[in-house]
Amino acid sequence: MTEPLRYSQSRPAALTQVPRWDYEADIIVLGFGAAGACTALEAARAGARVLLVESAAGSGGTSALSGGEIYLGGGGGTPIQRAAGFEDATEDLYRYLLMVGGPNADAAKARRYADGSLAHFEWLSAQGIEYKNSYIAERCIEPSTDDCLIWSGSEEAWPFVAQAKPAPRGHCPKFLGMGGGRYVMDVLTRRVVEAGVQVLYNARALALVTDGARDVHGLVLRSEGAERFARARRAVVLCAGGFVMNRDMVRQHAPFLLRSQFPLGTVDDGSGILLGASAGGAMMNMSEGFVTIPWYPPGSMVKGIFVNDRGQRFINEDCYHGRVSNYILRQGGDRIWLLQDHATFAMGEMQTLAKMEIGAAGETWEEVERELQLPEDSLAATVRLYNHYAAQGTDPLFHKAAKWLKPLNEPPYVAIDCRIDHCFYASFTLGGLDSLPTGEVVDADRQPIGGLFAAGRTTCGLPRWGEGYSSGLSLADATFFGREAGRRAATSSR
Ligand SMILES: Cc1cc2nc3c(=O)[nH]c(=O)nc-3n(C[C@H](O)[C@H](O)[C@H](O)COP(=O)(O)OP(=O)(O)OC[C@H]3O[C@@H](n4cnc5c(N)ncnc54)[C@H](O)[C@@H]3O)c2cc1C
Repeated sequence: MTEPLRYSQSRPAALTQVPRWDYEADIIVLGFGAAGACTALEAARAGARVLLVESAAGSGGTSALSGGEIYLGGGGGTPIQRAAGFEDATEDLYRYLLMVGGPNADAAKARRYADGSLAHFEWLSAQGIEYKNSYIAERCIEPSTDDCLIWSGSEEAWPFVAQAKPAPRGHCPKFLGMGGGRYVMDVLTRRVVEAGVQVLYNARALALVTDGARDVHGLVLRSEGAERFARARRAVVLCAGGFVMNRDMVRQHAPFLLRSQFPLGTVDDGSGILLGASAGGAMMNMSEGFVTIPWYPPGSMVKGIFVNDRGQRFINEDCYHGRVSNYILRQGGDRIWLLQDHATFAMGEMQTLAKMEIGAAGETWEEVERELQLPEDSLAATVRLYNHYAAQGTDPLFHKAAKWLKPLNEPPYVAIDCRIDHCFYASFTLGGLDSLPTGEVVDADRQPIGGLFAAGRTTCGLPRWGEGYSSGLSLADATFFGREAGRRAATSSR
């Protein structure tokens, strides 16, 4: 018979069973990624004694792997948006955030973020994160230069453009090349240390400590080969990332993401979510995830069309790459092609990274169709219809914007193989604990749980719908609502 686990992330330890307190602080923050760093900073600056617990040997988490891009705007625009000629009204940002949140958008979080986003840009800059005053107009995923402002969502695409005036809002730090997340985390880490936060590395949370009334009082940790007990006088803030690396949890909650064989993350084992749920925290949108194949740049690829294994289109291809990829994953089969003609075809670095290859080529679309073994006049009819309307500058089926419409009528033609089981479809989860904009974790009745806060991908935050995700939203949410949680937790009482 196997021994039952002494401590479990899914079962809180009873306060009465705690043998001693090895550590004590007002606030214990779990996880030293972007959310944890910002939470700890604001809590310490509000006068709280803060203990930051991290399982790795250094700060960073998935935040340090990221591009460091943050979705910012509103209030008339950040200085970088304004210099590039974009006025960005708070209400346009708000409406866009509501749309990207999908049918279950959190209006309170969207409101708070839209109202505070401009000031958040100033705060990030004041911490020492540098932004170059520059704008890239071309379609890109992340700059390979140290430039700042990019279009990082579906702002100009239908249906978003019909509801909110578009503006580019992806702010990338002044860091040469892709992967500015490490730079962002290095800056935040320096500020955390200066603020006097006590950091405990190589320490993993095993369980929450709760009392009979369900209030959270601390954490059981594993550190230096032994169980340690950490007491939080005011609150525990869970900032331990998402669950994409926990394939059992993905299977249980978001099975469609199993089709993506490239989970993006570091730890992301669902620890934070399980711990929060163990104290009664409600989980929400657990089936949602971001998924993408980086199929552009170059921008000319956007003039092509995607078809499924029935030779049919399914989306306006001028949307953000993650939205298109989300639709791809929801098609029935594994076979997906991107059709291009001689004028639009341009394979480069991104397509190599994505493992995209030419699946068929021909002088006519009928030839391509035969090579792909599709039923007669399935794909050819799709292209004929698309070309007919594209020549008139319209796309009545999917509303692709006129600037991306060009009849695919210049041979030779190619079908680029974007098979789901072969290409680089990367993913991370968007579901998590339900929380208030203040970071308080709530139960199924939306009542706050005493002494329990959360931020970042441990929560279901602003980014919560795969179809709406836009680059920069996850770090925007982690840093902004991490700060909110830190401030609120520092003055909270059970
Ligand atoms: C390649 C890549 C590029 C990306 N680019 C962007 C981008 O440009 N912009 C954007 O907005 N988003 C981007 N994302 C997504 C974004 O990086 C993450 O969603 C975000 O960083 C999550 O931040 P977090 O603070 O919630 O979690 P994390 O940064 O993962 O921090 C969680 C921390 O908790 C620790 N931890 C976990 N469990 C425990 C435990 N039990 N005990 C102790 N410690 C624990 C982990 O070690 C980790 O350090 C990207 C992701 C990837 C992988």
